[in-house]
Amino acid sequence: MSLKIPKLTVVGAGPGDIDLITLKAIKAIESADVVLYDALINEVLLEYASSRAELIFVGKRKGCYAFQQEQINELIVSKAKSFGHVVRLKGGDPFVFGRGAEEIDYARQFGLETQVVPGITSAIAAPAYQGIPLTKRHVSESFWVITGTTKNHQLSLDVTLAAKSTATIVILMGMSKLEEIVRIFSEENRQETPIAIVQNGTTSNEKVGIGTMETIRDIVERKGLANPAVIVIGDVVKERAVLTSIYKEVNAIG
Ligand code: SAH
Repeated sequence: MSLKIPKLTVVGAGPGDIDLITLKAIKAIESADVVLYDALINEVLLEYASSRAELIFVGKRKGCYAFQQEQINELIVSKAKSFGHVVRLKGGDPFVFGRGAEEIDYARQFGLETQVVPGITSAIAAPAYQGIPLTKRHVSESFWVITGTTKNHQLSLDVTLAAKSTATIVILMGMSKLEEIVRIFSEENRQETPIAIVQNGTTSNEKVGIGTMETIRDIVERKGLANPAVIVIGDVVKERAVLTSIYKEVNAIG
């Protein structure tokens, strides 16, 4: 029996660039007895963990889940009860389509102390590294972040609502629904609306395609764009700031 208090910290690892993690997240990883991590995190960040810590991959690889969500929930509780501090390391921000809240609810039922460390979400960072601001004066007054894949594998109905507005729309997990997204915008007579797709945003493998609703499918095919990608829709796509490439691949911490 461990004397440590069983505790869960759900931690946002940021979108990929290892420098886009918070100090608080690093401190949490350093103090972890067990780290359960997802596929979308940059594994270099695991170097912050103590050499005593157990590191367990619980994500999806080549389309196969290493663990189902229920198993992850149970693992969090059992590891915390046996070893103390469990860090659940997730891509981006854990409360943006990250199931962070579900895991916290579950852990609390078993008496674990729970905390969250917000992260920089890919919804904002991937467009930002392409110079795309989600809001800009006189161009866009708001943004929606919507899932392309609901629990029933459907595109969220919110896309239809958002397409009727002037808001910037950011769609995560939406690549398999591109056809449907284009159709929704065409039905609103918005074939000319700019759209950007950023794959592996903020990493050295970042790829981007920029066009309009009319041209984007060809661009995706030509450039071979695929998941994980953020789709950004709206006039802000035309407002790309000119950035000097700031990305340098760093392979190790220190
Ligand atoms: N909690 C995460 C999102 C998890 S859902 C966050 O806040 O970023 C997973 C989806 O996020 C992917 O299908 C993709 O749409 C998006 N995503 C995550 N990392 C990404 C990256 N580096 N570049 C582009 N899209 C990314």
